[in-house]
Amino acid sequence: MRRLDALFLDRDGTLIVERGFLSDPRGVRLTRGAAEALRRFTARGTLLFVVTNQSGIARGKLTRRQADAVNAEVARRLLAHGVPVEGFLVCPHHPEGSVREYAVACRCRKPGTLLHRRAIRRHGLDPRRCAVLGDKWDDVGAGIALGAHRVHVLTGHGRRHRKRVRAEAPGTILAPSLPAGLRLLEESLSR
Ligand SMILES: [Mg+2]
Ligand SMILES: [Zn+2]
Repeated sequence: MRRLDALFLDRDGTLIVERGFLSDPRGVRLTRGAAEALRRFTARGTLLFVVTNQSGIARGKLTRRQADAVNAEVARRLLAHGVPVEGFLVCPHHPEGSVREYAVACRCRKPGTLLHRRAIRRHGLDPRRCAVLGDKWDDVGAGIALGAHRVHVLTGHGRRHRKRVRAEAPGTILAPSLPAGLRLLEESLSR
């Protein structure tokens, strides 16, 4: 299998069970089998980034601090399985937000790629040797813009976004869950 430089993983509905605007670390539940599957990649030197749109911060549903606490819990759970996360890339914005400092149209909200590109530059990665994985069109859209491999999972909001992914993003791997998607990604890299 060709080694990938990095995986850009969506958090809610992909890496952890979707819980709406999650503000409490106690609500973190890793997708079953995700850690074990991710370890196959990190063991070979692939970096792991979690890229997450947290519009709840702009909407006043949770604070940046709470989002950071949830991310720290996700990192802790993964590390307990021997899986290090290189970075959490968070967009706290939304143009219709109620918290003034975050109520902006930004370039980091997926399908925007500002956060991905920053990590790519900082770590000297080749986007064609990266994969973007998520449950929404926004994730796949970012993957297309980057020229990266793409995996659309049907957990979280995945089923609702499947039609658009099929129509507008040919070549995207569709999978019932993150571990299944990672397995299919490995197979496609072995061909
Ligand atoms: Mg998601
Ligand atoms: Zn943003």
